[in-house]
Amino acid sequence: MLRIRAGSVHPVTAPPIEDGAVLVDDRGTIAAVGPNPVVPTPPGARALEFPRARLLPGLVNTHTHLELTHLTGKNTEREFAGWIRGLRALKDATSPDEFSRSAEQGVRDAWAAGVTCVADTGSTGAALEALARLGGRGICYQEVFGPDPAQCAASMVELRRALDRLGPLASSSLSLGVSPHAPYTVSEPLYRAVADLARGEGWPVALHLAESHAETELVREGRGPFADALRARGIPVTARHCSPVRYLLQLGVLASGNCLAIHCVQVDGPDIDVLRGAGVALAHCPRSNRAHGHGAAPLAAFRRAGLRVGLGTDSVVSVGDSSLLAEAAAAGLEGEDALRMLTIEGARALGLESEIGSLEGGKQGDLAVFPATAFDRPLPPVTALLTVVAGRVVHG
Ligand SMILES: [Zn+2]
Repeated sequence: MLRIRAGSVHPVTAPPIEDGAVLVDDRGTIAAVGPNPVVPTPPGARALEFPRARLLPGLVNTHTHLELTHLTGKNTEREFAGWIRGLRALKDATSPDEFSRSAEQGVRDAWAAGVTCVADTGSTGAALEALARLGGRGICYQEVFGPDPAQCAASMVELRRALDRLGPLASSSLSLGVSPHAPYTVSEPLYRAVADLARGEGWPVALHLAESHAETELVREGRGPFADALRARGIPVTARHCSPVRYLLQLGVLASGNCLAIHCVQVDGPDIDVLRGAGVALAHCPRSNRAHGHGAAPLAAFRRAGLRVGLGTDSVVSVGDSSLLAEAAAAGLEGEDALRMLTIEGARALGLESEIGSLEGGKQGDLAVFPATAFDRPLPPVTALLTVVAGRVVHG
């Protein structure tokens, strides 16, 4: 058993408690939350005290690429289509062992940032393997690529092979999903095939959507840097005369079940209605969007529409670090509002709100302790003092 006392405890779904405590039982679930004097101290429980710190639910990062952790600062290309090509070259030059070490470092960096659950997309399976090996929580979406319609069958064979290999690593704390990467790397038949597979097998789906101007140009008009690059490879390009969101709706991808759309910067009011109608959740990545010059996603409009939205760091290649607190600041969120978005709203976006995202009896013992100054402005670089996943101390 683990008992943690802190200067303040923030259950998120209930008011903050001054001098509070949380007790996590041997199964890793929360047994008690409350003022310190009323939370029991069972004999043999490990007791930790942080009198000047804040105890929060573990943070939920709704978009990471942990297998790319070793590439921090390695891609200096500024134009987005070129940046994507540069990233592909850097990945091609990475060995399986390097991906494995990189993903493991990514998991540890996430824990150091107080993150206890990640929604990760990657092509190698290294993130799922690292999370399984280290005892982390998350959803890992296996990426599939193939912009040429002629590649569709081969891409599906590769995807099924990866899912067969990774499936046995899934557990109550670790799920597997699929990620048709983005409109400039996935053909129409491949999107349809992945959506069919996800619907049939009940896989959650994550996709990069409506991120760059170049993507919108490609989908709407069949022009721009992505279109030029595809044509240069002999791949046919078709103007869809609609937004990326409507295009994916038409292909059946958005309504494939449990769908998480990442970025959604290039969206208008009707697109937001489409996303809401399809029950799509969003991963909002303000620092990445800014770093690549995509603009700002309309977070306020998403929230007004009642969409489920969590915060995501995206890869360290884009943003340089794993700080989810910095994403909240970049999103213009403060105080309890920021805290909700970092925890229970992120959990809701991933469909995990009955298990994580708040400190409540019976929920998973996923916790993070931060210095009391962690939310001050300007935001200092913040490392968690303690991070706990399912009652196990993983950092601090
Ligand atoms: Zn991404």
